[in-house]
Amino acid sequence: MTGPSMPIGLDSRRWQAQPSPVQQPQWQQHRDYQSCCAVLASSPALVTVREIGELRSGLAAVAAGDAQLLQAGDCAESFLEIGQEHINAKLAVLHHLADQLAAGTGQEVLRVGRLGGQFAKPRTAAVEHVAGIPLSVFRGHMVNSQEPSPDARVHDPRRMITAYAASAEVLHQLRADRAARATHAGSGLSAGPWSSHDALVIDYEANLVRSERDTVFLGSTHLPWIGDRTRQPHAFHVQLLSAVANPVACKIGPSITTDDLSALCARLDPDRIPGRLTLIVRLGKKVIAERLPAIVATVRSGGHPVVWLTDPMHGNTLRSGNGMKTRLLADIIDEAGEFRRILHRSGAHPGGLHLEVAAADVTECLGGMVRDIDQLPMRYTTLCDPRLNPDQAAQLLQSWYLGI
Ligand code: PEP
Ligand code: MN
Repeated sequence: MTGPSMPIGLDSRRWQAQPSPVQQPQWQQHRDYQSCCAVLASSPALVTVREIGELRSGLAAVAAGDAQLLQAGDCAESFLEIGQEHINAKLAVLHHLADQLAAGTGQEVLRVGRLGGQFAKPRTAAVEHVAGIPLSVFRGHMVNSQEPSPDARVHDPRRMITAYAASAEVLHQLRADRAARATHAGSGLSAGPWSSHDALVIDYEANLVRSERDTVFLGSTHLPWIGDRTRQPHAFHVQLLSAVANPVACKIGPSITTDDLSALCARLDPDRIPGRLTLIVRLGKKVIAERLPAIVATVRSGGHPVVWLTDPMHGNTLRSGNGMKTRLLADIIDEAGEFRRILHRSGAHPGGLHLEVAAADVTECLGGMVRDIDQLPMRYTTLCDPRLNPDQAAQLLQSWYLGI
């Protein structure tokens, strides 16, 4: 097959040496599995090489200390929230927060949504109990449904096709938003909004790798990231993202060793290109002060001009007294502040924040107007992790640029 965006699919020889990927759906026996993979492999890329190049220059500016990055959105996107009204509301919150960050820091802000493909979730436990019944856990709309019934939780590869169509719809809206903003803003940096998601499901991502002339790229999103559970230096996911021209990101949690971190950076950023690699630090407020200095020193001694982002949410998740997952805004503010101070002290640029934020006034995290755990059930609508509401996110950003 020829043409500007040729599918290269999954070259099995290339992957044979890798251990089998973790956190994958169990759907290979489904009668439509092969045909769903084939449909994806012959579908057009959802992003272009040109867009990827624009994002890379924006990220290079962040790596150089000249701009900030705000990456924000839902923990898990829903297939039911891809219409214009939903996307407009999500983009309005992203832009509002980014504008606030720009005004507070005096720097341009690159905007990246957890949007247009964030449909798959890594999970700690494969099974959960609902009313005493063991159920296969919800893994994102690309894999199964959140409804608590055995049928709804079956892994269905046809969902990859729905995820592709939903992503195409959202990416079309992002493109229109970028075009409208470019004519008005006239800024040097293409501030986005760009798409990003956890490139978790190998059947989906590997079948959306494309090549155009000499450039091999991931066609599913602008900025794929690797989750904290799938970032082993020799893992499938690291191999996949090391092979593409997209800028890539990786979550860094407390179990990382300095040896693994060096190996990971060497694989994902072998050429030491500014902005090629974004490290999303999610250590938790209890250990960040102890762990982050050595992490920063390791990356810098390896010569990697990375973008440093804080994800102050995933290391601070709690189960509240009523059994609901929540996070305290105060903990989130603490971790982000500590991150910023440590980066400054070591002479590196705190590049920005990676957040789970809802477009609506949800009651999922405690803080601000959500004062008590009794308020959590009022508007707790997340499909997965608890998100900040826009007011809570604004409070966090304020503490970030005021340095408190
Ligand atoms: C997430 O970002 O929703 C997530 C699961 O993060 P992590 O891989 O850092 O746990
Ligand atoms: Mn999450």
